[in-house]
Amino acid sequence: MPRQVPSRERPDACPGVARPFTAADGTIVRVRTGGRPVPVTALAGLLDVVARQPDPHIQLTSRGALQLRGLPDPLPDDVRSAIVATGLVPSASHELARNIVASPLSGLDAEGSCDVRPLVADLDDRLCADPRLAALPGRFLFAVDDGRGDVAGLGFDVAIVATSAGSALVLAGGPDRAWQIPLGRAIELALDLARDFLDTRERLGSSAWHVRELGAAIGPPGPVPTTLPTGSAPLVGAHGEHAVVGVPLGLVTAAHLVTLAEFTAEVLVTPWRSLVVPGGARRLGRLEAAGLVIDESDPWLRLHACTGLPGCAKSAVDTRAVARGLAGRMPLGSLPVHVSGCERRCGAPSGPYVDLLAPRSVERAIDLLNQV
Ligand code: SF4
Repeated sequence: MPRQVPSRERPDACPGVARPFTAADGTIVRVRTGGRPVPVTALAGLLDVVARQPDPHIQLTSRGALQLRGLPDPLPDDVRSAIVATGLVPSASHELARNIVASPLSGLDAEGSCDVRPLVADLDDRLCADPRLAALPGRFLFAVDDGRGDVAGLGFDVAIVATSAGSALVLAGGPDRAWQIPLGRAIELALDLARDFLDTRERLGSSAWHVRELGAAIGPPGPVPTTLPTGSAPLVGAHGEHAVVGVPLGLVTAAHLVTLAEFTAEVLVTPWRSLVVPGGARRLGRLEAAGLVIDESDPWLRLHACTGLPGCAKSAVDTRAVARGLAGRMPLGSLPVHVSGCERRCGAPSGPYVDLLAPRSVERAIDLLNQV
């Protein structure tokens, strides 16, 4: 059955620092990383912004961005300045366009066709250097996959997938339109495709957020359909001398940052509620003691929760308290479990999941899980 393509009647409202979004639990600000490593000190600066909230944390999004919620509405100037002072908003004009996800272990392990880290930095720099590209929708996604197939399946608009140390596929909107070219020309073509998206959108009078919503082909002549590599998210635990750690509920806390700062200057944010910790393999015990997840069988990796009480006035329950209570008592299972405070089910996983709608207690949640 053909995939449904939504028609957009208005521009996207994806939140940024200059364009915060007002939600039920206050103002949301999202900070993009451009697919680059993030200094731990910058994360600490971001956390300072919400330090007076009852449960201070930085949320990790499904596109590897960093999000603060529950901020005052309207966003005070000093809060905006504090976020910018972290250094995580290097381009005021292009902050919404820096949606880049990249294979997070590229260059740190032996998998993949090449180390895409320099390519990602170059893509981000050249994206921000073109004033025209500041108009890209806040949901337009670039993926840079080193050939292992971990981010190639993330619903990209434009992707670069390395096929060897010197060649790549560049794709527009999916596997049906791909160009095989030398790796050295991949960024140029990727940015040309983004410009072509904007030009075509303008010509058609369209409000499309994504390439697949345009209803028109973009790019130079000669694309071919291809089959994308199908890898998966890196497992939590040691990867050579490095580590991938899961972040419970995708919420980075002060305890996490204090421990990370003991032995690394920066981390990579993945799109799967985890962090790559360079040199972290020898510190797994410390990372676990700080509340991070180092074992793929840990129930925390299956647990999701919306903001809930006290942050969201629409909620009937403290969803995170229920999730924390569940973490040590989850019945065996494989599906993700999402605890939500109302029928909106904010932050629910995109695939199949067990739906715990406003469970009054941990016991009630366990009863519901046992019925699945
Ligand atoms: S799902 Fe949760 S966060 Fe979203 S509106 Fe309902 S209670 Fe609030």
